[in-house]
Amino acid sequence: MPYCCVCDQTVSAWLPYPHAQSRSPLMQVLDTVGSDPDVFMCPVCGCHDRDRHLWLYMRASGVKSQLKGASILHMAPEPHLEVLIEATQPARYIRGDLHPQRPHLQRVDLEDLPFEDNSLDLIICNHILEHVHHPEVALSEIHRVLRPGGIVIAQTPYAPGLKHTLEMKTVPDSQTAHLLYGQADHVRLFGDDIRDYFHAAGLQGDLLDHQALLPGVTKAEFGCNEREPFFVFWKAQQAVATDETGMSHDTAASQVETA
Ligand SMILES: [Zn+2]
Repeated sequence: MPYCCVCDQTVSAWLPYPHAQSRSPLMQVLDTVGSDPDVFMCPVCGCHDRDRHLWLYMRASGVKSQLKGASILHMAPEPHLEVLIEATQPARYIRGDLHPQRPHLQRVDLEDLPFEDNSLDLIICNHILEHVHHPEVALSEIHRVLRPGGIVIAQTPYAPGLKHTLEMKTVPDSQTAHLLYGQADHVRLFGDDIRDYFHAAGLQGDLLDHQALLPGVTKAEFGCNEREPFFVFWKAQQAVATDETGMSHDTAASQVETA
């Protein structure tokens, strides 16, 4: 019986993505990894496969157990995940967006983060880097504001069979962007070199396979794409930093490192 980890209920069946037939033929040829259109939405709470997969990853990696008392920046926050993260009682939970559409969102430009150096424990920016014009700037900013041992989670669609990221010199029209990058407002299609962008910014980590962290968690039962890895990177630990709450900031990073 399918089970939704977001609303904690068994469900009859996952609802498919309604516009799956409009997928770019190039994305089909390249067999890109992202959402799974077959298991898109929960019929009870309406959460998406991306929400469920991320929450499963955060639980299995130990990141979720580090949220209480943490300082978190959540870019373009997914409403279902917001509720779950809020419930963990973070000390500071900033919900940011370049173009805020909801009253509680703060305007935050990932390429120019309005936060002090070494001030955040966790940054969640899912499905954002493919929209950002200068990802090297954004990742450098992320590295700057993370505390040593701080973590960034950055799920992103990508083509693992593509050796190099595909990006035109100028931003193409929306039709071309949909063909080349899979969506009208994407500005590139990341390839297997996506991890290099993180490492160039000084971050450590890698794409962790679903099977490594979530063995036995199937698409049919949990409604998530087993091909989608966990994009988890962290700022190097210079010294074991323990803040006034006694929280060690390298714990979650070392847990995912050894997962
Ligand atoms: Zn649900």
